[in-house]
Amino acid sequence: MTTVANAKMSPDVTISDDFYWSPDTTTHGYQICTSCVMDTTDPEISFDESGQCSHCAKKKRNLKNLSERQASGELNLDELFATVKKAGKGRKYDAILGVSGGVDSSYLAYMMKENGIRPLAVHLDNGWDSELAVKNIQQIVQLLDIDLYTHVIDWEEFRDLQLSFVKASVIDIELLTDLAIYAVLYQQAIKHGVKYLIMGFNHATEGNMPRAWTHSKFRRR
Ligand SMILES: [Zn+2]
Repeated sequence: MTTVANAKMSPDVTISDDFYWSPDTTTHGYQICTSCVMDTTDPEISFDESGQCSHCAKKKRNLKNLSERQASGELNLDELFATVKKAGKGRKYDAILGVSGGVDSSYLAYMMKENGIRPLAVHLDNGWDSELAVKNIQQIVQLLDIDLYTHVIDWEEFRDLQLSFVKASVIDIELLTDLAIYAVLYQQAIKHGVKYLIMGFNHATEGNMPRAWTHSKFRRR
C-alpha cells in the first residue's frame, strides 16, 4: 500500500485572465438552464420551451433507459457475476476493480465480495489524493480482504503536464488522469491474465461534460 501526503503538493500557480474564456453573448445571447447550471458557454446546448437544457433531457432519457433495461432483465447482475467468476477460474483474480476511495467504487468492492468475486483493487494516485480517500481505500481493502495495487505517478512530471494543459487552455484537464487510470487498469489486467475490468460510475451525476469541452480519451481502432 502506498500513500502520499499531498497537502504540500498544490501547484503554486497564478493564471492570467487571458486563460479564462467567456461565452459569446453578442451573437447568440445568454441563457442558463432552469434545472441545472449549464448555460450557453456550451456552444452545442439547446433548450426546450420550459427552459430546460439538452443535457438535462439526455440525462433523463438515459436514466429511464437504464431502469427499463434493469426491469426487463436485460441487465442481470447475477448472470454478470457468474460470467466474471467463470472467466477467473484457475487464476488468482476474477476481475480488476478500479478504486478511488469514493462511494461508487467502495460500494462496488463490497458488492464484489458479497457475490464471491475475487477482485484485485487498483488505484491510481496522481498526487491529488485526499487523505480521506486514501484512508477509505485502506479500510475497504482491509475489511473486505482484497489485494490492492496502487500506482503512484511521478509528481513532477504529472504537475508539468497538468500545467501545460492549463496554459494551453485545454478545458478537459482530467484527460491526463483518465488516460492514466485506464492504462494502469489494463496493465494490471494483462499482468494477471484477467479478462474483466470493473468500475463504479454514477449515472445520475457523471458523464455530463459537453462534447465541445472534452476530447476523446480512447484510441479508436
Ligand atoms: Zn439542464
